Amino acid sequence: MANRVVLALGSNLGNRRRWLVLALAHLSLDEKIELIDVSGVYESKALTLSGVDSTKPRYLNCVAEISTEYKPEQLLNVLQNIELKLGRKKRERWGNRNIDIDIIKFGEISYRSEKLTIPHPQAANRAFVIVPWYEMNQDAELPGIGKISKLAYIFADQVKLK
Ligand code: ADP
Ligand code: MG
Repeated sequence: MANRVVLALGSNLGNRRRWLVLALAHLSLDEKIELIDVSGVYESKALTLSGVDSTKPRYLNCVAEISTEYKPEQLLNVLQNIELKLGRKKRERWGNRNIDIDIIKFGEISYRSEKLTIPHPQAANRAFVIVPWYEMNQDAELPGIGKISKLAYIFADQVKLK
């Protein structure tokens, strides 16, 4: 059975737009992934555990919706392989990276393991997820939160359409 999955992509190193496009290309080339929709590209300030870090390069972000028969951890593996193929070096939390692909929502599934939490626990706090997602789908809902429209309005000035 196929699930609709929302992914968040980000890059703050090198040719940022190129990394986003290449990641989307790799996703659509996978036999078990159908790329359904992609948001516009937004710029956001780098975040760390203690908030915005203006000393780090800014991110370009976008959100994509896919349909896939992969199970959650299988999809995480596929995404991490794409990150590796695109040359992502460090797996450092909050660190700079040329490409990051996170799973935001996976159908209506709630899932929790050492490797993976679905829905993404930080999704509702992140302007660079909510604003592009809302642009892509005005009816979008985050399990446990409901419609993301109100959040999108609150966060609107924290990211900039590029
Ligand atoms: P970041 O948290 O900044 O995205 P990484 O991309 O290095 O940092 O991810 C750290 C770890 O987060 C991954 O190795 C992965 O196992 C885990 N993880 C947990 N939940 C998710 C999710 N929903 N999407 C992607 N990765 C997740
Ligand atoms: Mg990640």
